[in-house]
Amino acid sequence: MSSEKKVFVETPLHESAALSKAAGCRIFLKLENLQPSGSFKSRGIGHYLSTHLKANGSTTGTHFYSSSGGNAGLACVVAARTLGYPASVVVPLSTKPMMITKIKAVGATEVIQIGASWQEADSYLREVILVENKNGVYVPPFDHPAIWAGHSTIVPEIMEQLSRVTSANRPDAIVCSVGGGGLFAGIVQGLDAAGCPDVPILAVETAGAESLNAALKAGELITLPGINSQATSLGAVRVSERAFEYAQRSNVRSAVYNDAEAAMGCWRLADDERLMVELACGVNVAVCYGGRLEKALGKKLTTEDKVVIVLCGGSNVTVDMLAGWRKEYAYIEKEQAVSNEIPSSLTAPNGHRH
Ligand SMILES: *Cc1c(COP(=O)(O)O)cnc(C)c1O
Repeated sequence: MSSEKKVFVETPLHESAALSKAAGCRIFLKLENLQPSGSFKSRGIGHYLSTHLKANGSTTGTHFYSSSGGNAGLACVVAARTLGYPASVVVPLSTKPMMITKIKAVGATEVIQIGASWQEADSYLREVILVENKNGVYVPPFDHPAIWAGHSTIVPEIMEQLSRVTSANRPDAIVCSVGGGGLFAGIVQGLDAAGCPDVPILAVETAGAESLNAALKAGELITLPGINSQATSLGAVRVSERAFEYAQRSNVRSAVYNDAEAAMGCWRLADDERLMVELACGVNVAVCYGGRLEKALGKKLTTEDKVVIVLCGGSNVTVDMLAGWRKEYAYIEKEQAVSNEIPSSLTAPNGHRH
């Protein structure tokens, strides 16, 4: 037996002065963008792969397959390569060339492009590839207990790190974004295991991908007719049953912001903290501005309150995309005055100054 390989890492918990100033409380960023695959998905998907290998014996010939052209596909390939196994990804024709190149660059055996939609690519994987290839292992993106268990490891890290810099290890709230709800379910399980199931959680989505919010409003698990947000990593039309169940707990709140707000979160984070993340992650940063956090949590915040934002990361971002969003959505900076004591309020193009 070889020594245990690390499929994910302990990430830093960084207190952001600029975001704290904007939000009116202490903002701690859990830097999941620094995971090996560029997002928190390394935790859950990495754990899924390790668990599978332990349960089935490390069979030669095992080949992992994901049907995500996004961060789940990247996480699958990165974890498989770390563990010494091949991985391939099946994606629809609409997947961006940049993401295909990134998935190939981290060592995918193959990136197979087929079908007009994710459903078609996923069906081809399940019904053709995995039927023909008995050594093929399907890797789900968010709806599996091993994935939640992997994601839950973020909670004891946060608590231990908070206890090193503050007088308590318990955050006053945790903010995370929701696609299919895998990350959210993992956080709930992590808090349960740590004996503090009542820590408030803000579950954030973008408008047009708000499958959790719509289910909560309907009072039942529903499927959105489609996705109408550029934050494609949040684009699950239906959240998992487990995520829906957890979201009905009284300490969980759901919030929805639009793509412009998510984009603002991305460019402000880039200017204030020199970190590049995709829209699915920027939407969490947006809560720090314009009183959004107090409104979403439904309570006044003090400068002593400690709020952890899970900076989930994501690879679907470039310098040009950031600049493009800042031009496209410039109006949002005019609509909303932000204190000029926050560095990013001074860096807008075209000299918008507040
Ligand atoms: C996958 C992903 C999400 C959503 O995670 P779920 O577990 O599907 O809810 C959020 N942000 C980023 C960057 C992601 O890659």
